[in-house]
Amino acid sequence: MALIQGLSVSPGLGLGPVHVVRARLDAAPTWTLRSGEVNAEVQRLNEAIARVIDVLGVRQTEVAKAVGEQDAGILGVHQMILQDPGAREQVDRTIREERINAEAAVERLIDRLKETMGRLEGDSVRGYAADISEPWHAVIAALMRSDQETITQAEGRVVIAAAELTPEAVTFLPRHRVIAVVTEAGGRFSHGAVLARSFGVPCVVGIPNLLARLEQNMPVLVDGDNGAVTLAPDEASEGEFELRLAQRSVREAALALHATEPAVTLDGETVSVLVNLESVRDLEMFEHGRCDGVGLLRTEFLYMERTVFPSEEEQYRLYRRMVDAMEDRYVVIRTLDIGGDKQLPYFKTPRENNPALGWRGIRITLEWQDLLRVQLRAIMRASLHGEVRVLLPMITSLEEVRAVRAIFDETRQQLSVQGYDVAPDIPVGVMIEIPSMLWVLDEVLDMVDFVSVGTNDLVQYLLAVDRDNVFVSSLYEPFHPAVIRALGAIGDAVRRSGKSACVCGEMAGDEAVAVMLAGMGFDSLSVAPNFLSVLKFAVRRTTMADARLLADSVRAVSTIEEVRARLDEVRERFRVEMQGAVSGAAPADG
Ligand code: PEP
Ligand code: MG
Repeated sequence: MALIQGLSVSPGLGLGPVHVVRARLDAAPTWTLRSGEVNAEVQRLNEAIARVIDVLGVRQTEVAKAVGEQDAGILGVHQMILQDPGAREQVDRTIREERINAEAAVERLIDRLKETMGRLEGDSVRGYAADISEPWHAVIAALMRSDQETITQAEGRVVIAAAELTPEAVTFLPRHRVIAVVTEAGGRFSHGAVLARSFGVPCVVGIPNLLARLEQNMPVLVDGDNGAVTLAPDEASEGEFELRLAQRSVREAALALHATEPAVTLDGETVSVLVNLESVRDLEMFEHGRCDGVGLLRTEFLYMERTVFPSEEEQYRLYRRMVDAMEDRYVVIRTLDIGGDKQLPYFKTPRENNPALGWRGIRITLEWQDLLRVQLRAIMRASLHGEVRVLLPMITSLEEVRAVRAIFDETRQQLSVQGYDVAPDIPVGVMIEIPSMLWVLDEVLDMVDFVSVGTNDLVQYLLAVDRDNVFVSSLYEPFHPAVIRALGAIGDAVRRSGKSACVCGEMAGDEAVAVMLAGMGFDSLSVAPNFLSVLKFAVRRTTMADARLLADSVRAVSTIEEVRARLDEVRERFRVEMQGAVSGAAPADG
């Protein structure tokens, strides 16, 4: 047994066999083989080659039927290339002599082929170089998929272990199969972490050399509450784990008792508690009565799960399902926010030195306007079936809001000419997640119906700390007084404007922060499904007057330590009250 301390990014407890995901699925990985693994690796290579040859054979027959034998011929040539004993022997030798994995060995072969062909003269010869390496690229793809297929086909639930906490690592398997996620590297506010929390999957990151210490199927205990990971736990640890699991479910049952009632403070003010969702499947993960609506639908994940852009019709159906499921509650649909670590496999953006400061969110969709127009059409059509609101990500300036507004109006006009009915009033709001917005906030609030604060990005841009960069993750500090004061200033502007304001970044999921935010003037908070009931509990145990006092006192202090201390006090009070509610020593709820 080995106990390793990491960093918790998503709470909860999980115990089960580990499955090591070796690499990001979109990049060919290189790893060193142990001596006992070489033969199995050669076997894995041969199986992948055989699979590609089979697929090529099937495609050859189909193409021959559809367009003729001659055009199908190239697929026959590709099969022959993969059967070439010389090339296969080279890859085999690279695996055995250099002790590297099959993907890396095939890449070496491709490099050699390109080099040899590149030295020859003439365009047709160089074209041939591309042709002879193509089937080998298919072998790399088959090798990388085989890792996923083996585990996808296997029965049962597993703990996913990966080098990095990427969205791919978290979504590697359908979520009901994922007990927990552990990774060597990853930021607490990266999109991978956001997903883990949103799926309610315990997750611990920051464990150097983790993968080297794991074997497939080794039992692993993940404590997402304290950031501890136990490899091959003994019986006593398993016993303690079972006990804590039971305590957690008692706590959850106590919270669930009043979770469908509204969050009203002790002095009668209502705070809307909304849910953040990433996909239509998330609808199955929680009792809808627990939320007052969807505060953030991150639509990019609908796009990321696919191989081509979803059509207007598909999007319309998805948004409509969401709206129908929410019945009379509203749904805030955020337009596509790709870029950075949220990449679409079928839309390659250029490599950037500073992706967080690069081509992201509205910057992409204002350039590729068809993406925005199709999405807006789908959202507008869904608006007939329930209340939808549109939220714009990564807004930096008034000009961007104006540009989207114009597209919005044109789209509505176009739909009406085409005979579609659209709800007369679709509120439009912007994310406040880039600091420039703070200095044009009054004007922005004049132009929009609501704002939603994305603290995940706001923190990274205010503090100049990349939310995905593990080297600076200790500097990513949501409790920095600058962050608190920025939130306070947004709250002030919102109050002046009389508009509605939400916080949908991860910070809002902390019960003490949630109360502080309510005190600052935010009328709604949007959090992952798991945090809904605890937030409602906290709001019901507080007066708005106290929440305002808390907000003022936290805004007044000037160090991270003092901010933490103030919020810790509040959190501790809720913890004690929660214990009282659980043990029945106090009334179950306010
Ligand atoms: C945020 O930035 O806080 C946010 C809610 O958006 P995302 O995490 O998707 O960037
Ligand atoms: Mg954001």
